[in-house]
Order: sequence, then C-alpha cells, then structure tokens
Amino acid sequence: MARKMLIDGEVNNSTQGEPHYDFDLFVIGAGSGGVRASRFSAQSGAKVAICELPFHPISTEVVGGVGGTCVIRGCVPKKILVYGASYGPELEDAKNYGWELSENINFNWKKLLQKKTEEIVRLNGIYKRLLSNAGVKFYEGEGKIVGPHEVEVVQVDGTKISYTAKHILISTGSRAQHPNIPGQELGITSDEALSLEELPKRAVVLGGGYIAVEFASIWRGMGATVDLFFRKELPLRGFDNEMRAIVSRNLEGRGINLHPGTNLTSLTNTEDGIRVLTDHGEEIVADVVLFATGRAPNTKRLNLKAVGVELDERTGAVKVDAYSRTNIPSIWAIGDVTNRMNLTPVALMEGSLFAKTVFGGQPTAPDYDHIPCAVFCIPPLSVVGLSEEQAVEQATGDVLIYNSTFTPMKNTISG
Ligand code: NDP
Repeated sequence: MARKMLIDGEVNNSTQGEPHYDFDLFVIGAGSGGVRASRFSAQSGAKVAICELPFHPISTEVVGGVGGTCVIRGCVPKKILVYGASYGPELEDAKNYGWELSENINFNWKKLLQKKTEEIVRLNGIYKRLLSNAGVKFYEGEGKIVGPHEVEVVQVDGTKISYTAKHILISTGSRAQHPNIPGQELGITSDEALSLEELPKRAVVLGGGYIAVEFASIWRGMGATVDLFFRKELPLRGFDNEMRAIVSRNLEGRGINLHPGTNLTSLTNTEDGIRVLTDHGEEIVADVVLFATGRAPNTKRLNLKAVGVELDERTGAVKVDAYSRTNIPSIWAIGDVTNRMNLTPVALMEGSLFAKTVFGGQPTAPDYDHIPCAVFCIPPLSVVGLSEEQAVEQATGDVLIYNSTFTPMKNTISG
C-alpha cells in the first residue's frame, strides 16, 4: 500500500543552495537488493555508484562478489545441487516404468561442482552488465561510511578513495555463523558446503531451518549418510506444524537420520573423521559437519557506530523505519542487513521501493503480508499466508481448516 511522505532531497526537488555531491546515491553491497535499488534509482534519473568486494564463492570479510549471497553462494548454486540430487531417486523410479539401466550409474560430484561454478561466474558477469547497462558506476572494494554523506572505498591494493553522495544505501546482507562450541572451527557453513572438493560419505547437519533441511536433502539424494540434529521436536520452526510434521516424515522417508531435541556439544578431529558429541551423550563420526544455525547481518566493518547509525543490540542489524530509512536521514538500508524477512524476493521488493520512494517521487513502504516462500528440501515445501497456528491466534471467530493429501499418480507405479 502506497503511503505519502516527504523525503528531503528527492531528485526532482529544487536543489538550490544544496551542497554538491559526487553521486545522488552510493550503494554498499551488490547483492540482489543493492543491484535492484541502484538500477531502479538510475532509471529514475539518479547518478548512482555501487561498491562490492572481489568475487569468491566462499565469502569472508574481504571477498564476496557482484550478485551476492543468492547468486554466488545461496539460492542459485543450492538449486543446482537440489536438481542434481533429485536425479538419483528419479533413476530408481524409472526402473518401475520399464527403463533398464543396465550399466553402473555413478554420480560425479566434481563435474556438478564445475558446472555450478561456471554458472555462478556467468551470473556474476550478467549482474555486472546489468549495472553498467543501467549507467551505475561500479567500484570493486570494501565500502565504509565515514560521514552521513561520505563513503570510503578500500580497494584490493589497499588504496582508499572517498566519494560523497546525497543518499547512502547499505545492502551488505548477512553471513552464516558457527555456534560457540568446542571444535567449532572443524565445522563448515553453507558457503563451504556449496564448494566442497569431495562429496561427503557421512554428513552431520546442525539446525532445523531452511539451510539444514535443504543440505540434508541434497547430500542424502547424492547417496551420503546424513544425520540431522535440531533443538525442537520438529524442523522448520515458524512454519505450519502439520507441514513441519510432513517434512519431517519425508526427510526420514528418504533415509535421513533425524535427531530432534538434540544439540551438538563438541567436535574433535580423529583419524577416522570428525567426532561429534551431542547433549544426549550420542557420538557420531562424520566427514563433514555443517552448521546451519542462522546468519548474522554484515554490519561490523561499516563504521556505523562512529557515524551514529543505530543497530539492533541483539542481532547487530541496521534499524530502519517502514521506508527503509535509518535514524540518519541520508542513510538507508535494505535486505538481510536489516533482518526483516531474509528472502531474496523481499530484498528485491525493498530495493525497488527504496528507489520509488527516494528517486521516483512516490514514497512506498514494503508490504510484508502474505509473502510466499519455498523450502527446497526434497520433496519441497511451499507456503503462502498464515499458518494454522497464526490463523487461530489472530482470528476473532472460528477458523475453518481444510486439508487434503494425495499420492501423486507417478508414485503409484514407481512405488
Ligand atoms: P534459520 O534461521 O532458518 O534456522 C536456524 C536454525 O538453527 C534453527 O533451526 C535454530 O533452531 C537453529 N539454531 C540457531 N542457533 C543454534 C545453536 N546455537 N545451536 C543449535 N541450533 C541452533 O537459518 P538458516 O541458517 O537455515 O537460514 C538463514 C536464512 O537464509 C533464513 O533467514 C532464510 O530465510 C534464508 N534462506 C532462505 C531459503 C529459501 O528461501 N529457500 C534457503 C536458505 C536460506 P531453533 O529453531 O531451535 O531456534
């Protein structure tokens, strides 16, 4: 729903007496949200620059890449692996449809990984071209905010250049975290999981969120033994309980060993692999331990406290109003760094509406109601609207629940 408000310094406003800036907008972080906001702002006539760290599949504080998490180490490579993992069971099913697969069928992880890397490199190039075609100036380096209207870009060779801008947009996303347990350095996050040299034979996954169930499905689909540990009784906290139970049953049905109500307490290196201990006294040895225990906003190295930008004390996320504006009027933030709803299409919406608000003359707040989402476990789950629990909580009268289950016809023959 569009709401009107006055934004000081809209591009079409009179600029009489205003100081001169190098750019109308300087964007820090060229992920989904940042690229969308800069392109749309440039299309509305703004002079726009964007900075981003050099490309690398595994992100650190000094490498990242145009395209951001979704394109380089998130949704896109994950979907490629999900597709890859889905062929194994399909080939099995094919036998009941008369296909005689007489030769040994082997899965070549390295080949899939190479294809995945080629695809993310291709998309990285496309995103760079999207920026240049829109007339957005791209700087490679780490951006820091040094004043309400000033960004410093530290380039790869260490040189620093400062630029002034009427508006600054923070869209630096988030990064996966390790839990604080002994031996946590032996575990990996989804970044590394998408670039492993070898397919693990024995994988342990900690967490019950999107990433945990997705990677458990991927590795199991490729033939690994997978043990999934999560703190609650069911995975996917926040989703409809009935759906959570179905996902849980499906994961088990595909051969994933579920360990509900269980956390990991330590990891140690042994000759046979990583020894994992749990708070139930269990012990498991694995080739890979994946921490899928949430992500933290990338705000630490932006110099935000010095400039006075308010952060959420618990999460470190940038605090913004309904229009994505921080407490400093010239500084805005969108996407995972604000920790509102951490999904790529939501960052795109926030980026589009930022441009519309600041440079399009139509201030519009993002609408977070009824956002659909999909979890790419195998088989996948998709959701829109309220869960049954939310409906019951919010309703003033009775809530009618209809549900339906069916066996896909394909499975009647394939079994
Ligand atoms: P989530 O926030 O979805 O889940 C985190 C999981 O880790 C929860 O099960 C939580 O358990 C558990 N956890 C947190 N801390 C600990 C701890 N110290 N010890 C043990 N368990 C812990 O995070 P993800 O990492 O899965 O995903 C990150 C973000 O990426 C999400 O916000 C999601 O929106 C996005 N994403 C979206 C995808 C999609 O759209 N398909 C795909 C992948 C990611 P508990 O429930 O007990 O708190």
